[in-house]
Amino acid sequence: MPQPLLSVERLQSRIDELAAAVDRDYAGKNLLVVCVLKGSYIFTADLSRRLTVPHEIDFIAVSSYGDSTTSSGKVEVTQDLQHEVEGRHLLIVEDIVETGTTIRFLLDVLRRRRPASIRIISLLKKEGVEEEDLPHVDYVGFTIPPVFVVGYGLDYAERYRHLPYVASLPGADEVERGEP
Ligand code: 5GP
Ligand code: MG
Repeated sequence: MPQPLLSVERLQSRIDELAAAVDRDYAGKNLLVVCVLKGSYIFTADLSRRLTVPHEIDFIAVSSYGDSTTSSGKVEVTQDLQHEVEGRHLLIVEDIVETGTTIRFLLDVLRRRRPASIRIISLLKKEGVEEEDLPHVDYVGFTIPPVFVVGYGLDYAERYRHLPYVASLPGADEVERGEP
């Protein structure tokens, strides 16, 4: 069973703060919010509704974990953006950064399209990976212990995305690896 880790109230008040920071940083800029599907759809919706800076939203889907809970290290774009990004200020919205593989891949793909700037916002960041091994994440909602989490967009085999809070799912990693 999922064990609550971040309550609805904590999530929502932190997103108020994140939106205020994004508003300050993007005043007068031509902002394109890039939602990384599927995990960040709820975070993107909540963040976007709090922004007062004008912005457009686009979606990109990448496969990383599949239905597993361990990163394969291989990432590919499974659904691309519809917007031209050349000259745009991009804000990549991620659900969670763990090893940094997904973010590194997205930065690489999107930088080649010559945006005016790229920043990353991630609701969650997992402890346990050396900072120097990670790409810089400009805005982080919460740093969490290295446990498998679900809810608020995050899934385990496509389940639990609808939970309004973030919960840990004890044993999820072991089950996937076939351990007892
Ligand atoms: P990274 O590429 O940084 O190792 O991992 C980032 C991606 O792995 C996230 O976008 C997410 O899809 C997945 N991921 C990493 N940790 C978790 C977790 O605890 N729960 C879930 N549901 N997905 C995770
Ligand atoms: Mg995922």
